[in-house]
Amino acid sequence: MGYSAETPVERAYRDSRINRIFEGTNEINRMVMVGELLKRAFKGELDILAPAKAVAEELMGIPDFGDTTQDYFELKKRAIKNFKKAILMVAGAAAQKFQDKLQNEQEILFAAADMLMLTYSSESFMLRVEKLEHMNGADKVELQKLMLDVYIYDTANAIKKFGDDAVNSFAEGNEKMGMLTGMKRFTKVDGVNVIAARRKIADKMIEENKYPF
Ligand SMILES: Cc1cc2nc3c(=O)[nH]c(=O)nc-3n(C[C@H](O)[C@H](O)[C@H](O)COP(=O)(O)OP(=O)(O)OC[C@H]3O[C@@H](n4cnc5c(N)ncnc54)[C@H](O)[C@@H]3O)c2cc1C
Repeated sequence: MGYSAETPVERAYRDSRINRIFEGTNEINRMVMVGELLKRAFKGELDILAPAKAVAEELMGIPDFGDTTQDYFELKKRAIKNFKKAILMVAGAAAQKFQDKLQNEQEILFAAADMLMLTYSSESFMLRVEKLEHMNGADKVELQKLMLDVYIYDTANAIKKFGDDAVNSFAEGNEKMGMLTGMKRFTKVDGVNVIAARRKIADKMIEENKYPF
């Protein structure tokens, strides 16, 4: 239906392609994004160096198993905080390694940018579901929570892949082993039955016969 010009959705599919081109292509924006963050950090406008150092120190220490919260949103917030640590670890180590030549390492910048975007969308998603629960009550957001479960689970795996690829490209020996362990730790989330979750979400769409959320 999306391919046939007779249907209205075809136009929307065709138009959406421009989002990857105008106002800077996706590839160029990925490079700009990380470069801009590092530039602001070096100018002292944004403190990412201290958190990056704290993450490096955390990696040297023993993992903290003290926090045993079972609160749904607290667990999601912790996962997202860990995604940010993964970004700081990879981008911080790459910045130290390549210094002002980092802009030549486009694939590493792309990996860090993809990690940033996934973390941003996860956090926005989580905050919206949390807000909906406060407004409408927990029984009204069961499906949204399932969607969030699926998204965070998928995102954790995607972030791990981008981070591992970057680390494997520039680190060696003990440093590499330490960072790969860090990537595993910072992207660890509970397993999700994504098949059952997606079926439940699809059932709701079929039942309503429209976009219901
Ligand atoms: C419908 C439309 C509306 C537009 N509106 C505006 C507007 O309002 N204002 C405005 O300023 N511009 C606008 N543009 C221009 C748009 O931003 C440019 O087309 C865009 O920046 C790409 O430049 P280019 O076409 O010269 O592609 P090129 O620079 O030739 O790039 C071709 C491809 O190679 C990739 N690429 C290029 N360099 C690199 C690199 N170093 N590393 C990795 N990949 C790279 C690009 O991402 C792209 O996929 C518009 C374009 C279109 C099609």
